[in-house]
Amino acid sequence: MKIDFSQQLDFNNVLIRPQRTTISSRSEVSLERTFHFKNSDTSWTGVPIIASNMDTTGTFEVSEVLDKFKMLTCLNKFYNLKDYKQFLFEKQSNLDSKSYSEYVSNIIISIGIGKEDLLKLDNILTLFPEIKWICIDVANGYMKKMVTICKSIRKKYPNKIIIAGNVATGEMTQELIINGGADIVKVGIGPGSACLTRMKTGVGIPQLSAIIDCADAAHGCGGFIIGDGGITCPGDMAKAFGGGADFVMCGGVFSGHDENPGELIMEKDKNNNEKKYKLFYGMSSELAMKKHYGKMANYRASEGRVIKVPYKGILEVTILDYLGGLRSTCAYINAYKIKHLPKCCTFILVSQQLNTHFVK
Ligand code: 5GP
Repeated sequence: MKIDFSQQLDFNNVLIRPQRTTISSRSEVSLERTFHFKNSDTSWTGVPIIASNMDTTGTFEVSEVLDKFKMLTCLNKFYNLKDYKQFLFEKQSNLDSKSYSEYVSNIIISIGIGKEDLLKLDNILTLFPEIKWICIDVANGYMKKMVTICKSIRKKYPNKIIIAGNVATGEMTQELIINGGADIVKVGIGPGSACLTRMKTGVGIPQLSAIIDCADAAHGCGGFIIGDGGITCPGDMAKAFGGGADFVMCGGVFSGHDENPGELIMEKDKNNNEKKYKLFYGMSSELAMKKHYGKMANYRASEGRVIKVPYKGILEVTILDYLGGLRSTCAYINAYKIKHLPKCCTFILVSQQLNTHFVK
């Protein structure tokens, strides 16, 4: 047994130090970034924020909203070929070819590492070769099989942008890029709002430190990272980018809107006021397991929560709030582009992040 005594940070342990800036309006800030991915020799330009591939957020309906802001949606693993066919054929017939190809460049197919996942991927890409992105997603990206599968998908699809995860340390980030051939590594073990991994397993790394460590490792070998999970407010997203995340993925933030699936739940609070909620749940929760696999296997514990999220209205409002917050962070630290955030960012350790005087 060993103990690492170095300080490990979460978003709420730090604030970003303001500094002299020549930016006089948030409108001068650009949140778009162009990436060139070394392993796939492919480029993408957009706002590097991604809706998580949970079945409540990684949906076609959510992708239509995010696409308007040039953001990405990682579609959930439970869409089958028929779902892709139905949605994309209709999209193709409703949009001109430029808008269709822009839309398609902002969706990501996600798969696990089972045989049926690989077959599904092949089928989707045979029919829709214009889709650029593949996300190979497992809860524990440290498995040897992950690297093997990633490598074989890279061989088969040399020009697709491959995301692999999840991990939370630099050495495994490099392993997935160098030996797996991934372009981007998804980082986050246990920070998610619907996640119970840390409670059920004791495993995890505070998310800001995981991002800093993995970003450094990825950038050292020509790769990129996604900070996945743990974003609770626009400030957290700014901190994730400031810590070196090239992309940020959110689940909870994008849940609870009109565009998310599921009925509105009406409940009375203790003052008898009617409150509206929508259901959001971890993909390893008992609810998700039962929904998609019919049962919860008894060799595994549920590592996901089921949450009633207060209803938030339309998704666009949340997106504008986050993009506005990010632009403002950039203005406070003289970062004209989102890409400049890490080099303009100094984190200070704090013992209190927010004034909670009026918060119960
Ligand atoms: P959030 O943005 O809600 O904080 O985190 C979203 C991320 O949580 C997802 O992208 C995914 O990586 C992770 N996640 C989703 N469902 C589960 C789950 O059931 N268990 C765990 N451990 N993580 C989950």
